[in-house]
Amino acid sequence: MSSDCLGCKLANGEVITHVIYEDEVITCFLDIAPMNEGHLLLLPKKHYLDLDELDDITAAAILKASSKLSKIIKDIYKPDGVTIIQNGGKFNDLQHYHMHVFPRYEADGFAWVEPEDKNNNKNRLEETKERILNHIKKNNFEIKEVKVLIPEELSELLTESAEEGFRHIHRLINDYIAGINKFNNEGEALFECRVNNRVIGICGLNQDPYFGEGIGRVRRLYIMKEFRRHGIGRKMTEAVINKAKKHYRKLLLKTDNPVAGEFYKTLGFEEIMNEEKMTHCLVLI
Ligand SMILES: [Zn+2]
Repeated sequence: MSSDCLGCKLANGEVITHVIYEDEVITCFLDIAPMNEGHLLLLPKKHYLDLDELDDITAAAILKASSKLSKIIKDIYKPDGVTIIQNGGKFNDLQHYHMHVFPRYEADGFAWVEPEDKNNNKNRLEETKERILNHIKKNNFEIKEVKVLIPEELSELLTESAEEGFRHIHRLINDYIAGINKFNNEGEALFECRVNNRVIGICGLNQDPYFGEGIGRVRRLYIMKEFRRHGIGRKMTEAVINKAKKHYRKLLLKTDNPVAGEFYKTLGFEEIMNEEKMTHCLVLI
């Protein structure tokens, strides 16, 4: 709580308000300057400015409360609709996150100002979409260990890798389903990368089946084409290397793709000549 923030004081009862609902994380009270009667404000008890700063528990509490309170407003006031808004940054007059929930009536004077030229962005929508999606691809991917693989979630990877002439995703799925390789022995892992909840990359770590104990093997790395050159393959391989460091002395791999070979070298792998079962090796200790 910020000591000089009015929002913090309102949310924590240090300034008296007309409280409608309160729990451990949020407070809801009447706006003193209502747009219409029943105008509510929802505030987190902790200090936040913007929606994107809220922790998950607070964000969920606000959404849930706004839904319940909308229903209550509908039941009591029978409005033509309920409007929910939140202003961010310099437009947040309280400088503490708050959501407005209020009943609306036709011709009540509240206005959402439409642009004068309603088609002003028509030719740019595709460009706008690309810009936002590109940002998500570069910045909002999530890499984590897969505990249970759901083969259907790899269908896009399977189709695209087959079109590129690769068989390794097909083998990954088949071996997983058959129980031949589930990446679940000591020191093994399967990492996936998701963007907008789509699986767009995969990479596995196995105990090496050829060179004995204390040696790991990178397997089945694949990143979908449209997501390449954004550093995702590097981050995935780094996740494998970090896991491998806890279990192995050396990390091996085999690739016949020269582009992939150069990529692994930038991560510290050394190229090995004249070995049937490996082309690259990284010493971990
Ligand atoms: Zn505050």
